[in-house]
Amino acid sequence: MSVTEYDVIILGAGVAGLTAGTFLAGRGFKVALVTSGEPTACLSTGCIDVCSRNHNPLVGIKELPPAHPYHLVPGETIIESLNNFQAAMSDIGIPYVGTEKENRLVLSALGTFKTSCLVPSTMAAAPQDTKASIHIVSFAGLKDFYPSYIISRRNNSKTSVYDAGVSSTMGIASHFEDKDFLKSFIIWLKEQNIDEDTIAFPAVLGLESAVEIVKTISTSVGKPVFEIPTIPPSMPGRRLFNALKDNFRKKGGNIYWGWPVIGVEKSGKIIEAVTTESKGRPNSLNGKAFILATGSFVGGGLTATREAIIENVFHLPVHVPGPRDTWFENDYFSFNHAIGRAGIKVDSFLRPTETPLENIFVCGGILADTEILKYGCGHGLALATAHVAAKSCMEYIR
Ligand SMILES: Cc1cc2nc3c(=O)[nH]c(=O)nc-3n(C[C@H](O)[C@H](O)[C@H](O)COP(=O)(O)OP(=O)(O)OC[C@H]3O[C@@H](n4cnc5c(N)ncnc54)[C@H](O)[C@@H]3O)c2cc1C
Repeated sequence: MSVTEYDVIILGAGVAGLTAGTFLAGRGFKVALVTSGEPTACLSTGCIDVCSRNHNPLVGIKELPPAHPYHLVPGETIIESLNNFQAAMSDIGIPYVGTEKENRLVLSALGTFKTSCLVPSTMAAAPQDTKASIHIVSFAGLKDFYPSYIISRRNNSKTSVYDAGVSSTMGIASHFEDKDFLKSFIIWLKEQNIDEDTIAFPAVLGLESAVEIVKTISTSVGKPVFEIPTIPPSMPGRRLFNALKDNFRKKGGNIYWGWPVIGVEKSGKIIEAVTTESKGRPNSLNGKAFILATGSFVGGGLTATREAIIENVFHLPVHVPGPRDTWFENDYFSFNHAIGRAGIKVDSFLRPTETPLENIFVCGGILADTEILKYGCGHGLALATAHVAAKSCMEYIR
């Protein structure tokens, strides 16, 4: 077995794990991040929901039930985590607009509005009401994008369709990275003689160069241009993930990609190592402290069986909401689904309660009582709790 020593081992490459890892690697710690795969960020709109319950997210957080893990994060740490995020995204070339004091509206592919806080600059020009006229450009064969739905809610908007030669979001986004494709697309767009105030596109305007592509199109036609997030696979979600991953690596973090954890080595109250599967021989990653950021059910951190809900890496005790028959609802994404409260209970250092283990900290979607859908607090909570977990970890090691 090969053995590698680290200060901190992080489990999970979502917004929580990558943020905690970047924080620690940026302060000189030797950090490894182990992940079995891609995070839920790749399924998301890429927008940072902080708390959608109040127009001011910080006020909304104060109104959350007492058990909500946001209450374990000092107010200044919530703001620090959002400011750090915005600064990092600007540095890496995919800036986010918005402030922690105000939610904004993001036009969805169904023509409804989603409430979020920080949004990619490619969505910044989205109207905040139904009055502005929009011209929606769609692409031939593109599934799950419904300009007619959007237009049916706005009597002053129009749509047109471009044939990009491919019909998947990823395929069209790759085409936009090609300068000749972009040139001929702009020629076609100008020929549409668009009268409407703004031009909207499904979020397929490039893979990593979307900011530049939006600017080029907008300058060429002399109108504001914005992207509408589509259902997965989501380009803005993928851009967010790639940016966080690049940032972590830039700070010196090491990623063990696609290596499921197959064992944990403990000595009394201390976790000493995780063993990962790899081609050839198993790998032991030794750490002084561990951060669990494996997400909830969709991310893979929790599994529900007939008997119990299981935390898959360390088998930590899972807080289970109410009697078992309340775990079921036909719609998993229902806002009030009781299962949204399942997860790991933690103290103010984000150390799991109900376990003697001392050197493990937990952050993100795997925490108990998050009710992410109900309170609209996905990536925002991941950023904030990642900062607390990283700081606790730092104190513990020192
Ligand atoms: C469909 C969908 C859309 C969403 N849209 C939005 C949105 O638009 N805005 C928003 O703010 N929030 C959104 N959310 C919520 C948001 O994605 C999550 O709350 C948040 O990103 C959680 O991040 P995380 O880092 O805790 O976990 P996750 O993103 O779930 O990442 C978990 C990571 O752990 C890894 N992992 C799991 N098990 C193991 C293991 N045993 N060993 C090693 N690695 C493991 C996974 O591969 C993954 O990399 C959405 C959620 C879903 C499901």
